[in-house]
Amino acid sequence: MEPRTCSESVELEEISRHPCYNEEAHRYFARMHLPVAPACNIQCRYCNRKFDCVNESRPGVVSEVLTPEQAGRKVKGVAAQLLQLSVVGIAGPGDPLANADKTFDAFNRVKESFPDVSLCLSTNGLTLLRHVDTIVEMGIRHVTITINAIDPDIGSRIYAWVYDEGIRYEGRVGAELLISRQLAGLKALSERGILCKVNSVLIPGINDSHLLEVSKTVKLYGATLHNVTPLIVAPGSQFEIEGQRAPRPKELHALQESCAGEGMKVMRHCRQCRADAIGLLGQDRSADFTWDNIE
Ligand code: SF4
Ligand code: SF4
Repeated sequence: MEPRTCSESVELEEISRHPCYNEEAHRYFARMHLPVAPACNIQCRYCNRKFDCVNESRPGVVSEVLTPEQAGRKVKGVAAQLLQLSVVGIAGPGDPLANADKTFDAFNRVKESFPDVSLCLSTNGLTLLRHVDTIVEMGIRHVTITINAIDPDIGSRIYAWVYDEGIRYEGRVGAELLISRQLAGLKALSERGILCKVNSVLIPGINDSHLLEVSKTVKLYGATLHNVTPLIVAPGSQFEIEGQRAPRPKELHALQESCAGEGMKVMRHCRQCRADAIGLLGQDRSADFTWDNIE
């Protein structure tokens, strides 16, 4: 066996403490999501963000949006009690890079207080390319990009519109713009040594037979991990109104197997966490860390 290079060893160390990148780590290391990013610059037809729904667990749902200052305080309060905290991420409830000032302000506060905690960012990728230098300079080592299609015709059935620099793009044009930005951002980040995970939402009848192609493509562009998650038909979303169904477990499993068969590392333990989740994966303890409990 070839000896590991220094950068490979650093990468392994980083992955070993991230509960999403490493299935074993999710039993021992906890993550905390900071819900500081309410706005979004695209409209996925499956999305319906809510801010006050205690019984719902899915991306985009939070109990309270925090200011960066509140987020910094909350991390301090949680870290004092949750000793396994290894990753602080920003994943919404909108798009973190559509709220870039708030997102980077919150990350800076975490970094100042906890320089050893890994920072993790999720994005739809529309403006990713503009933020590559900041991401690298800030020491954000994990970035997730949600890529549901690489074919603009399929993308146009998933995204209602894309809003960039004051212009709203719809249909195929919007999807084409988004996809080109996602792939360019993924390539740029992976070339700078950032660990990139791609999330894809499996939508029966729309992208189910296309996601293997997505998986092969993102691997070529440098993704280290592919996380295919089942569509959750959100109440009030366009997909609910159209009667779109969620995939069956066996459909998800078959697709994950196909992606793995092409040599892609596949995530199979995603819990589709809320944008304010705290704790080990599968044990969301956000309700334990109210302001009364941590201050
Ligand atoms: Fe909703 Fe996220 Fe899509 Fe924005 S990128 S519309 S927040 S699912
Ligand atoms: Fe990890 Fe999935 Fe939860 Fe994101 S939604 S933090 S990838 S388990």
